[in-house]
This record gives sequence, structure tokens and C-alpha cells, in this order.
Amino acid sequence: MEENNKKSNKLAIIGIILIVLGVGLFVVNKFVLGEDEKEEQKETKTIDEQNLELYPYYIVVTARYGATQETKDFINKIFGDNAEEKFRVYFQWYNVVHELTHGIVAYNTNTNMLERDIKYTKEGYLEEQKVNDFAVAYWKKYGDQEKVKLLKETVDYIVSNMKDPTDGKLTIEEYGKQLWQSDNPDSTFEEYGWFQFNSVKMAFEKDLTVEQALKNLGVTKEVKLDEEKLSYDKIDETVCDKVISDTVAKFKKWGLNFTEIYHVYNDDPNTNYSKAITKGQYESLKSGN
Ligand SMILES: [Zn+2]
Repeated sequence: MEENNKKSNKLAIIGIILIVLGVGLFVVNKFVLGEDEKEEQKETKTIDEQNLELYPYYIVVTARYGATQETKDFINKIFGDNAEEKFRVYFQWYNVVHELTHGIVAYNTNTNMLERDIKYTKEGYLEEQKVNDFAVAYWKKYGDQEKVKLLKETVDYIVSNMKDPTDGKLTIEEYGKQLWQSDNPDSTFEEYGWFQFNSVKMAFEKDLTVEQALKNLGVTKEVKLDEEKLSYDKIDETVCDKVISDTVAKFKKWGLNFTEIYHVYNDDPNTNYSKAITKGQYESLKSGN
């Protein structure tokens, strides 16, 4: 009995201390710190623009068309007639900007994406939709219109021919949530691809402007868009380099932050990926270690 009383006295004292601390913090925050200091507290959460060069960007894109018969067969099955051209427009042109758009979020918003990885971020599916909204708006404004048309036909075709993994039970957003919040975010092409193609289709339906899409990504600073079109006669492996450098140059011209890029080109349609890495990781990738 004696022991129990002592214990509950101790707990009561700890409880009172915690309450006093809580009230104290509230009082300090509300009455002692002025508006300026509170603003400063918020500021510490924003990205440090001075230190962005410490976080280069890493991107993996499907830049090569069907290195093996197996991948060619797979691409033909997914993309249908004229698969090679549709594949090239989707992966070597559209999707390069999709991956760079995740970089806009990393370097220009307060989402702390410099320290995190979209694949393992529970709300990642929401960013994917916003990234597709932007990438579609971007190519509609700056790209060749026949490629935009082919892109739209491609996602419409794929969505209507791929098996719906939800059997019509979930919306794209609900399915995205389920994928990202599962224990295994490394899903198959039939799952992840179905989400992405539907998300691009949705972006066409939403039909946002570049300005609206940038705001939705969380960019709050004033940007000044340019009007220069980006035209590429032929879409092949070599165009990815140009799309990367032209697009990053555009972002910078608008006043957005971006950093150096380390890219990996592969031929696997299921592996497209991007994230900010540390300077150390960047140096070791560059030196091939
Ligand atoms: Zn993405």
C-alpha cells in the first residue's frame, strides 16, 4: 500500500510538472515571443537556399528502348500499335520532365523533401498527381503539340487496356494511397504503372495551367514564366540529355532553384525514380564507386 501511494504521488508530481511545462511553453509562444520571432520559427522549417548545392539531384529514367526482346515484347503488349514511338514519347520525353518536377518540390517548397524519399513518404501518391498535373501542363505549353496528342492517346489506350488491379472498386487516389501506405512500396508494373498512367490521364482531364500546377506543388515564390518552345525533331535515347538541360535551364530562368544532376539511363519501364542526394553520394556516383 505504502509503495503504491509513493508511486501515485510520484506520477502526480510528474503530471503536474508536465502540465506546468506545457502551459509555460504556450505562454512563451503566445505572449513572450513577438510576431517577428514566430515568423522566424516558421522560417527555420523552410529549405535553406544557401545550402542547396549540398543536395544534388539523382534521376533514373527509362531512356533506352527495349534492349532485350523480353522488354520489347513487354512494351509492345502495354503500348499496343506503334508501341516504339509511344514508348519514346512517354519515357524519353514526358517522363523526364515528370522526374525533374519532383526536383521542383525538393528545392522550392517547404515539404522537407531534401531529407526524405518520395517512394517511402506516406503521402507520396498526392505528390505524384501534382507532378503529373505539372508535367502535362508544361508540355502543353512548351512542347510539340503532336507529341502532346500522342501522349494523351497513349495513356488513354493503356488505361483502357490494362487490367484494373482494383476491379473498379477504388479511385486512382484511393489506390495510390493504398500503394504508398502498404509495407511494400516497390510494387509491380501492373500496379504502379496502372496508377501512373491513370494519373497522367487525370492530369489531361484537370487541364491546369503551368502557374496553377506550380502553386499546387507548393511553390509560393513569384515565378516569371518564359514563352520559348522546346521542339525536338526526333525522340530517341539522345533526347533525354537535351530535355534535362533545357528544362532545368527553363526552371532556373523562371527563378526556381535547381542543382547539379546525376542521371542513370536504363531500359526497364518499371524503374523511373528521382530524389535529392547528398554531395558525398553524388561524388561517389560520379567517381563510379
Ligand atoms: Zn513520380
